[in-house]
Amino acid sequence: MADQYQTFSKSPIGKFVIKNLGLPSPIELDRFESPTPVIKGAVLLGAAPNSILSESIAQVLSNIHANSYAGNNAQLQQAAAKSGLNLSAFNDGDKESKFKAVVFDASGIESSEQLNELYKFFNPIARQIQTSGRVIVVGLTPETTGSIKQAIAQRALEGFVKSVGKEFKKGIAANLVYVDKDAAANLESTLRFVLSPRSAYVSGQVIRVSKAEVLDIDWAKPLAGKTALVTGASRGIGEAIAHVLARDGAHVICLDVPQQQADLDRVASEIGGSTLALDITAADAGAEIKAAAASQGGLDIIVHNAGITRDKTLANMKPEFWDLVININLSAAERINDYLLNNQGLNANGRIVCVSSISGIAGNLGQTNYAASKAGVIGLVKFTAPLLQQGITINAVAPGFIETQMTAAIPFAIREAGRRMNSMSQGGLPVDVAETIALYASTASTGLNGNVVRVCGQSLLGA
Ligand code: NAP
Repeated sequence: MADQYQTFSKSPIGKFVIKNLGLPSPIELDRFESPTPVIKGAVLLGAAPNSILSESIAQVLSNIHANSYAGNNAQLQQAAAKSGLNLSAFNDGDKESKFKAVVFDASGIESSEQLNELYKFFNPIARQIQTSGRVIVVGLTPETTGSIKQAIAQRALEGFVKSVGKEFKKGIAANLVYVDKDAAANLESTLRFVLSPRSAYVSGQVIRVSKAEVLDIDWAKPLAGKTALVTGASRGIGEAIAHVLARDGAHVICLDVPQQQADLDRVASEIGGSTLALDITAADAGAEIKAAAASQGGLDIIVHNAGITRDKTLANMKPEFWDLVININLSAAERINDYLLNNQGLNANGRIVCVSSISGIAGNLGQTNYAASKAGVIGLVKFTAPLLQQGITINAVAPGFIETQMTAAIPFAIREAGRRMNSMSQGGLPVDVAETIALYASTASTGLNGNVVRVCGQSLLGA
């Protein structure tokens, strides 16, 4: 459904009214157009003294040929030189230069007293970030640091980043990447994602990177040769996921209920994929999915996207509404995973991606069934992740307000509140959820396991 407020805000009269009444002014967010350049515009790099991730960060910036700058920081210059990154000089006091992204390596911060490194770096340049820009802080996973003092200081980064996300406006996304102490080599797919327009609606999030095998990939087609299955693919978010995974090189099997066969055929033919008309609650759904992927070399990626709402306050809810929502949104995914994992239904380096919701994090009036199912999805990810082997991973996205048929059905006032109550002052698009799923699905993302990233423009709900 079109966001008429956003359209109005771009008109001359709309600009006048919004400015004078101090109303939110949603800007049009940059979104993915082509794999290169990963980021259009200059990147400013900074680091706290004795940081240990700068070389890996510089390596990624070098790989993507980013137009990179740094101030007078000898350690950073050395790290950049080692990774072949050409760093241009940024002079202290320069108030003219603008940056599309600002990346700060905070891994050297060992105590709360040293948190002022954040202030020293960001305060002078806080007004020099362009619209749809990026603030990225890279720190050490607190649990993997050497001391309590350092763990406390690294944990503090979260509050800083989330506040920046709320302050900077202009469609600027701020995210924190925690890297396990020995996982610097696994940073690349995440850093590329948070730098690029693929992360347009992801802000105030923490992405955790752990150590895993580093696999070579073609970054322009990170899913080349892979077979993916997306449930609920006939429309909305599922349709967007199918398109993005196909764009990234996968053969996509589009699954939906038999009643959606016509739309399923349309989506599959648009992306050169195939279809599987199936109710995911069927007892043999796991076996059907495995069989459908067999002729494509087996399944590499499964995206559990199909989901429903049946909203009623608890006192008014019929038992069948409760059971249906829990069964489709949670139990079906659990059963399918169990089947695939216990019956060689997922190839080595396979990817399981689940779709939760901010409702599962914050809870929501009239959604006891839905919120329970989506919180259960977070549990599914958390408790399955440590058990997986052979490079298989499981992660989830938790969308906020996304413009789909599901949200078009929400009453007007609640819909408007959902759209505006976030740092981007607008709803997200299905493609925003799909891009985050593509990050998890990437062959290069074996170091992402057990993550739940909200795609919500930093919604106030559950923040
Ligand atoms: P949607 O437009 O309603 O699409 C969901 C699709 O899943 C529909 O085609 C639906 O078919 C299908 N489906 C339902 N039950 C199924 C079953 N038993 N077996 C196979 N397919 C089934 O929903 P959406 O807005 O794109 O949402 C996609 C996912 O994102 C859901 O898990 C939802 O909970 C989650 N999410 C959405 C938002 C949002 O703002 N839209 C926010 C947070 C989370 P039918 O026609 O039979 O329903």
